[in-house]
Formats: sequence, C-alpha cells, structure tokens
Amino acid sequence: MPRVFSGIQPSGELHVGNYLGAVRNWVELQREFECFFCIVDLHAVTQPYEPRELESRTLDMAASLLAAGIDPARSTLFVQSHVPQHTALAWALNVVTPLGELERMTQFKEKSARLSSVPAGLLNYPILQAADILLYRADRVPVGDDQIQHLELAREIARRWNARFGRDFFPEPQPLLSPATRIMGLDGATKMSKSLGNTIGVLDSPEAIWEKLRPAMTDPARKTRYDPGNPDICNIYRLHQFFSSGAEVAMVAERCRTAGWGCLDCKRVLADNMIAALAPIRERAAELRDNPGRVREVLAAGAARCRALAEATMAAVREVMGFLAAAEE
Ligand code: SF4
Repeated sequence: MPRVFSGIQPSGELHVGNYLGAVRNWVELQREFECFFCIVDLHAVTQPYEPRELESRTLDMAASLLAAGIDPARSTLFVQSHVPQHTALAWALNVVTPLGELERMTQFKEKSARLSSVPAGLLNYPILQAADILLYRADRVPVGDDQIQHLELAREIARRWNARFGRDFFPEPQPLLSPATRIMGLDGATKMSKSLGNTIGVLDSPEAIWEKLRPAMTDPARKTRYDPGNPDICNIYRLHQFFSSGAEVAMVAERCRTAGWGCLDCKRVLADNMIAALAPIRERAAELRDNPGRVREVLAAGAARCRALAEATMAAVREVMGFLAAAEE
C-alpha cells in the first residue's frame, strides 16, 4: 500500500473546519493507504502558546480523532514529540535547506509579521515538516491549498539532500489534494480556526451548536426576512452542502433567493442536520472519556511503531552523512 503522512495541531477538540477540511478525508484514506497521522506538538510550540494546556489539548485531539473514525487497527496515530527522530532528521535536512527558500514561505511572512520577536523555530518550521514526511518515506501527503508551498519545499529538500549525498534515498512526496480544504468560520470572513474564535466544535452539545449558529454571519444584503438573498456568498449555505441532503440544499437556495424563509429558519435546518451527523462522533468521544487509558495506549503503540521505522531511516542517514557510529555500551 502507498504510504500517507499527515499532521494536525494539538488544538484540543476537533472543530467542524478541521473535520471537514482534513479529518473526514483521512478516515477515507485509511481504506487505500498505509496512513500515519501525527499530532504535531513540536510545531505547535513555534507560536505563542500556554504550556499548562498543551498536554490536555494533545490528549483531547487524540480522543477526537479516534472518535471521528481514525482506526488504530488500520492507521498509526501518534504524537510528534514521542518520536525524537523527527528533530534529528530536521537537523540533517537543515544543512541542505537554503535560507532564502525559508524566508519566502507565505506562512512565515504572515505569522512573523504578527510577532515583535520572531523565533528561529518559526522560520525552520517547514524543515521539521519535511522531516515529518521524509522520516517515514511517505509517498503521499494530503494537502490543502495553504500547505502546497510547504510540500513543494519538502520535495526540494529531498532532492537537495539526495543530490548532496549522492543517493536516491528520499522519495519526493506527492500531494493528495482533498476536495474540501477551506472551511470558513462563523464570521463568514476568515478560515475556521480555534485561535480566531469562529468555530463550532465537533463534540459541542446540540444546544451549543445552535447557540453558535444562531448569530453566524449570512448574506449581509438580507437585512430583513423579506429581502431576497444570495446563497452563493453565504457560509451557512456552504455548510448545508456538507450536512444536508441534495433536496434540502436545493430548497435552501430556492427559499433564500425568493425570500421564502428567514435566515433563522435556514440555520435551524442546518443545526438539526449537523447535530444528527455529528452525534455518532459525540457518542464515541463520550465512551473514550470514560476510558482515558485507551487513548494513551493507542498513542504509545503508535509512537513505538514510528520510533522503529524512524530509527531505521536515521541509521541510514547517519551512515550516508558520514557520522561516527556510537560505540555499543
Ligand atoms: S437564507 Fe440561508 S443561505 Fe440565504 S442568506 Fe440566510 S442563512 Fe444564508
């Protein structure tokens, strides 16, 4: 089976944006690929964060992923910092990565512009990402449009390392473009993101889902119930396309354009469908909450498998780069 690698930030529980944009696709990929899914806590610390929350956010993300359908019998789920070879390979790749390539990354420019002091880790983030992928010699990487540039750099780093050391060792990972990559937040203006506070949690209660949807942004031209709207510019309509049936989606568009109903009616239908679609995930998450040791067991088994594979890669890398082998004790 071809091998897939993908990572997700330890941002706590999943929200609808990362579920629709990534994880739902991961669940499907498990059928066709040997999948490695990594909670990227080493990446998370390159941005301002609260150390007291990192552990619980990592565990909550792992539980959310299992509840959403990541199956440890078919895929390897692990935490990045549990496999020290990620940072070891990042250093080996660091020495072939041109500084100019890192400085021109769009994400680096955007994130560093918001900081008064830019840590080197933020600049080197794409090298660690390349190491994440190349450590397992992954063939495919599911990417959204905001990650394509980093994957291209990972391919470039693989080529440069192979050329520098005269081996065809690292395969160039190919992108797997996923169908729904960018889910807008409840403000309708920016990508759904925990840091922007515009999310609906996959594990939110039915009441919480409704409370969040009710004030969500719609077509601003619909000032009153009697103004016709344009569903094509409304994020609520876009969410209907993921959670409602084809007949309901057509009805939403028609009633919106003809002012046949109000936005609250439209949101109520979306809320009911979303609540029903997410109910099985909420139920599995509740079972996992009653059995917290299960999540840690899955992560321990995943990390053990990864360390064995990663050490084989690193042994070859050290030999090719000419490092003196450590003496056996
Ligand atoms: S009726 Fe629905 S699709 Fe139309 S603007 Fe209101 S919320 Fe959006």
